[in-house]
Amino acid sequence: MRIPDSHMHTNFSPDADKAATFEAYIEKAERSGVKRLMFTDHVDLNTTVALFQMIPDYTAYRSTLKRLQPSTDVELCMGVEIGYQPELHQAYDTFLSNHPFDFVIMSLHTGDGLDFHNGDFFIGKTQNEAYRRYFELVKDAVKRYDNYDVFGHIDYIIRYGDYATRDYDFETFRPIIDAILTIIIEKGRGIELNTSGLRYGLGHTHPKFELVKRYKELGGTIITLGSDAHSVKDYRAGFEEGLELLREAGFTHVTVFKNRTPEFIEI
Ligand SMILES: [Zn+2]
Ligand SMILES: [Zn+2]
Repeated sequence: MRIPDSHMHTNFSPDADKAATFEAYIEKAERSGVKRLMFTDHVDLNTTVALFQMIPDYTAYRSTLKRLQPSTDVELCMGVEIGYQPELHQAYDTFLSNHPFDFVIMSLHTGDGLDFHNGDFFIGKTQNEAYRRYFELVKDAVKRYDNYDVFGHIDYIIRYGDYATRDYDFETFRPIIDAILTIIIEKGRGIELNTSGLRYGLGHTHPKFELVKRYKELGGTIITLGSDAHSVKDYRAGFEEGLELLREAGFTHVTVFKNRTPEFIEI
């Protein structure tokens, strides 16, 4: 079975290509021989970033998918990528209970109310201080909130901040990373292998290999594979490298979700 892409954005995400329509992805999936599409557009409630204040109308979203379904053999599934903030537990619970999502990625797109992308989060912090604070926030999130399936791009903080390098020493952060992964595993949640770093010039996936390997060593089994495509050309980008990396880390299966339930595909 060709592995479906478990992280992709359509033009319902404000930062995605306007040509990234459902129809364009359907055509691409049909041509690629993939049997399922899992759309995971952005929902960042209470964001300080103006662009992301627009939340898709999921009632309309779902009826569009239902209308398109008879025209294709590709199964159309509705996922979402939520941007965690500690004060939003109730708001996300309500939002998620209002729509029948198949899959929920929880990501941290801001920390302490400060944006990563515009650099506010990094002001006054050394590189290691910023990364440590980010991982502390991830730890708090997975400790306190369970209404998600996988944690998104768990070490992508290295993509931002005006530092000379865009990497971290795994051993330096290992204690906190171990704590995060242990909580995720104990609570029956998972992580994703997000291949976007490969095409953004970072030279590695999010998370990088050491973290994926550590997750496996600690007993992690739930791991999805996603390109984080914001345009149709990036759909399933980096999948061969991603699968190779998963095998190297000791995984025999990759996870996909439907109805918030994990399914395991042999790799
Ligand atoms: Zn994200
Ligand atoms: Zn994303």
